[in-house]
Amino acid sequence: MTPNTEGANGADRNQQLFDRARALIPGGVNSPVRAFRAVGGTPRFVQRAQGAYFWDANGSRCIDYIGSWGPMILGHGPPRVVEAVQRAVLDGFSYGAPTEREVELAEEIVKHLPSVEMVRLVSSGTEAAMSAIRLARGATGRNHIIKFEGCYHGHADALLVKAGSGLATFGHPTSAGVPADVVKHTLVLEYNNIEQLEEAFAAHGGDLACLIIEPIAGNMNFVRASVPFMKRARELCTQHGALLVFDEVMTGFRVGLGGAQGVYRQALPGFAPDITVLGKVIGGGMPLAAFGGPRALMEKLAPLGPVYQAGTLSGNPVATACGLATLREIAQPGFYEALGKRTQLLVDGLTGAAKQAGLPFAADCEGGMFGFFLLPELPQDYAAVMKSDTAKFARLFHGLLDRGVYIAPALYEAGFVSSAHSDEDIAATVAAAREVFAGL
Ligand SMILES: *Cc1c(COP(=O)(O)O)cnc(C)c1O
Repeated sequence: MTPNTEGANGADRNQQLFDRARALIPGGVNSPVRAFRAVGGTPRFVQRAQGAYFWDANGSRCIDYIGSWGPMILGHGPPRVVEAVQRAVLDGFSYGAPTEREVELAEEIVKHLPSVEMVRLVSSGTEAAMSAIRLARGATGRNHIIKFEGCYHGHADALLVKAGSGLATFGHPTSAGVPADVVKHTLVLEYNNIEQLEEAFAAHGGDLACLIIEPIAGNMNFVRASVPFMKRARELCTQHGALLVFDEVMTGFRVGLGGAQGVYRQALPGFAPDITVLGKVIGGGMPLAAFGGPRALMEKLAPLGPVYQAGTLSGNPVATACGLATLREIAQPGFYEALGKRTQLLVDGLTGAAKQAGLPFAADCEGGMFGFFLLPELPQDYAAVMKSDTAKFARLFHGLLDRGVYIAPALYEAGFVSSAHSDEDIAATVAAAREVFAGL
């Protein structure tokens, strides 16, 4: 254990570090949601992590339900992965030339995703989604794309867009620095709205390169695309020659070994997206992401085809060692059954605690991913998620944090359980939630 410096001399090391960080790094953070702006207070600066826990700069331990926003499916510091990374580091950090491990990782990914015959490795989910869209546009010779309100696909310009006024209109930039011209090809629709989807294809079907979707959205908390909606999306894409792009950066190897597409295939036999975007778990906590699909499509990429895409650190040997060791662990028989049970235990416990406190509460989970809402029922789209009580959520967040439970500091985020979370961790979390819910 690290000494609790707060206890030792009364100084709040998190606050001190945050003050130093804010002088040098915009908002004190290198990714906005870490700044706690939605909930107030001081971000925890992580000193180290092990298993289901991290320790902050004051030496306080937290049960971690963020897990680096999804990658840490084995918890922190899984021994076999640590060992693989240590071995890889000794052989060199980066070569800018191909390695055997890239082939092995590609084989491991392709093995579990029937829709993917070839992959290209990149370094972030943003890069993977951006490249997938370029591929879709290059392959179809079309410019327009569909995205859905509340889905996040990284911060590429064309994807930082919100709905315009009226149904099925082209969007407006959601960030300064994104020219309206760059998003004029991006059509923004409501998640789970079949009628609007049909309308959009009727109006623009011939010009659509692709439809990109988070099949189980984890960037508006946790919202599933309904089976009829997904079925219709697949049909319309096929009918109009647009590509269906599954952004599984979060759900890939997180909700199951076959990703969200595996979940939809249970209800829709033979179901497959055209392009799959991966990240997070496939890097096991290292910067690694990928996109893949059928051979004929992927061969449109440089150096074989006309769609350019490249990266100095793509397929980095340390990152691929980490990703590969992670994927080999989670491919063990029974892994997802155990993980899913653990996650369900948490969701059931939280639901029971909320009911006891008389709180409106709805929760859902799949594999090692979950979400809950202070709402009477599960929302189906972004507008419904937005009806959540943000002030109440902020109190809930801080109540849990004070009790050593770390969930995402914004209600628009999913939560993650790892295989390192024990039944005792879940029980401690539910006990903390019971106290917090009673005071909300
Ligand atoms: C995290 C995420 C991204 C972006 O990945 P980065 O590695 O943060 O660039 C894209 N799509 C989805 C669905 C994500 O959850």
